[in-house]
Amino acid sequence: MSVAATTSPAVGTLYVSRFPWSRGMPRVTMALRSNVVSVGSILTKLQQDCATPFPVIRHVADSMTADMRAGLAVDGGSNLKMILSYVDSLPSGNEKGLFYALDLGGTNFRALRVQLGGKEERVVATEFEQLSIPQELMFGTSEELFDFIASTLAGFAEKESEKFHLPHGRQREIGFTFSFPVKQTSIDSGILMKWTKGFAVSGTAGRDVVACLNEAMERQGVDMRVSALVNDTVGTLAGARYWDDDVLVAVILGTGTNACYVERTDCIPKLQGPKSSSGRTIINTEWGAFSDGIPLTAFDRDMDAASINPGEQIFEKTISGMYLGEIARRALVSMAEEGSLFGMAVPNKLSTPFALRTPDICAMQQDKSDDLQAVGSILHNVAGVESSLSERRIVLEVCDAIVKRGGRLAGAGIVGILQKMEQDSKGTIFNKRTVVAMDGGLYEHYPQYRSYLQDAVTELLGSETSKNIVIEHSKDGSGIGAALLAATNSNNRLAMMIRFILLQNRQGKTRLAKYYVPLEDSEKHKVEYEFRTHKVIYRRYAGLFFALCVDITDNELAYLECIHLFVEILDHFFSNVCELDLVFNFHKLCLISVSSKVYLILDEFILAGELQETSKRAIIERMGELEKLDCYFLTHLKQASSYFVILQILARNCFFNLSISIAPVSLCLYGVSLCEIFGVFISCSYDIMDVYKQFAIVISCNLLLFQIVLLFQVDAKNLGA
Ligand code: ADP
Ligand code: MG
Repeated sequence: MSVAATTSPAVGTLYVSRFPWSRGMPRVTMALRSNVVSVGSILTKLQQDCATPFPVIRHVADSMTADMRAGLAVDGGSNLKMILSYVDSLPSGNEKGLFYALDLGGTNFRALRVQLGGKEERVVATEFEQLSIPQELMFGTSEELFDFIASTLAGFAEKESEKFHLPHGRQREIGFTFSFPVKQTSIDSGILMKWTKGFAVSGTAGRDVVACLNEAMERQGVDMRVSALVNDTVGTLAGARYWDDDVLVAVILGTGTNACYVERTDCIPKLQGPKSSSGRTIINTEWGAFSDGIPLTAFDRDMDAASINPGEQIFEKTISGMYLGEIARRALVSMAEEGSLFGMAVPNKLSTPFALRTPDICAMQQDKSDDLQAVGSILHNVAGVESSLSERRIVLEVCDAIVKRGGRLAGAGIVGILQKMEQDSKGTIFNKRTVVAMDGGLYEHYPQYRSYLQDAVTELLGSETSKNIVIEHSKDGSGIGAALLAATNSNNRLAMMIRFILLQNRQGKTRLAKYYVPLEDSEKHKVEYEFRTHKVIYRRYAGLFFALCVDITDNELAYLECIHLFVEILDHFFSNVCELDLVFNFHKLCLISVSSKVYLILDEFILAGELQETSKRAIIERMGELEKLDCYFLTHLKQASSYFVILQILARNCFFNLSISIAPVSLCLYGVSLCEIFGVFISCSYDIMDVYKQFAIVISCNLLLFQIVLLFQVDAKNLGA
């Protein structure tokens, strides 16, 4: 102590000027003064060791980028595992139904249910329940932990209110957010690599966590199914992306920390086998394991050595909520031991590991009063110490140094990810709005941490570029995100996507083709023989080949059944469907719909690449309805206005055959105004009592009207009017 005072006068001066205080008798002041210098030097050393000036954060950002690349090149290529999430497509907004989500974080366990209402209604209702994970379960057996999860879920599911609705006979599906390093083996399975964030549960590492949960649900008699296993970052990305298409990165800053982002599949050398059709996939970086260039203090090293995973998760140990309070506590204990901060004896309570938690240091930093009363009472409650004003100020300086480093390093990490993405796709990240979705208790509740993080991002990117980078809190994003991913991968949805359907004769001539993915004409021609990395499932019926292009991992048998069903339905309408039916009925027009009959049948069956209906009866019934409507329409049209039928068919032919120039001329000949046409159609619809039919007719009128307007416009252009 006195050595510090004599050998380091500058430190002493700095300290006294920063924290001037006076206390009691001169003799006491003397005793304190020698401690003062020592406490001051410890603080200064802490601040120096923690410092994150520009070169440090620049180095961290660049190393993060380099480590990401190394981790993407080959498994084990760097500290960053860069795990493939198997999430290739993010929620579209069309998800519908009731879904559950479970979130096992480091501190809390949440169960959530959400009723999704599709594009228009989005999230209709949500409910959630949150519990702290009992301490003993963090060190118990795998069975105990998963039984706790399953029984909590069972209790939560029992409280489901009428706001939530599950179609009869369907199983409840769960998106399981599991915030520990998992080697994902599919969207609904993954092996736990190791526990982090202080967990030391026996018997889970090396096992499929979904299997662990399923077994526990079985033991507890819970009839639910895990449809998606997601990391909390991936859940946050999915949840935020549901509302905002510019979200490309998600970061968790809670008990632990992690980040994920949308990566191009051609930038992942270690990705073997079929690549996702979207050309993108989400990479879970597991960035908590990053370590290069992080400024560390003696307290960090001590804490790391005493942890259950020494030498690992260094980034996490310097920036996440579990550790910030503990680092501060260790610094304060050192000050108490060596510098008699808080009196001559080291307060007992303060010596207990993790006695000072991050929420405590956060609450202290919010105290803006002159006498720092809140700081005093927190120190009293947590550490059992009576503190002077100057001691409280020292405590705040310690907290600030540690939180500043944490926030700035987190910001540097984010820049590391963004600049990697920018390097690979020039101009698509920094030159447009890019959103980083943030979640986790630390980010949510700690304003100083948030602003240090933002400062580092602005410093590294410059004020102009950083305007495009929006760092946004996505509250409960991970819960909803997991539920959305459960919906995307739902069993009930038949998530298998058909890319195109082809009907060809034995000579290879295509008789029907429908594409559910955008393709160039030249590519369409090529796909009749081979197609990217998808597979083509086909079946021959007499002279016709029915071919479907699907994902390589999809179930062939299911699609063969699907082809067979399609043939059965065609048979129903054309009795023993043959090539001629397709050729001659191909352009047979339906008045109600703009489609030809075969296409109409196909649309009842497959829409946007997904099976809509697997019941033959239902499809036939619907087609029957349409046919009835067609007949009804025709008779009424005849009665209403004979010239109009001709006109309509003319218009339709024009639309299909693109012989657009005839129609406007005919329209002029008949001298029909658009209002008249519309009026005829509306009057037809009045006769029909069935609301559905009225609706269909009105829509159909609009469609026709639209076509006619289009024709007028085209003609006006042709005539140069
Ligand atoms: P988990 O990480 O377990 O999923 P959260 O995201 O809710 O859970 O984060 C909890 C962590 O957030 C706590 O461990 C704590 O470190 C931090 N935290 C919670 N509340 C606060 C607060 N008021 N101020 C600062 N940090 C907080
Ligand atoms: Mg969490």
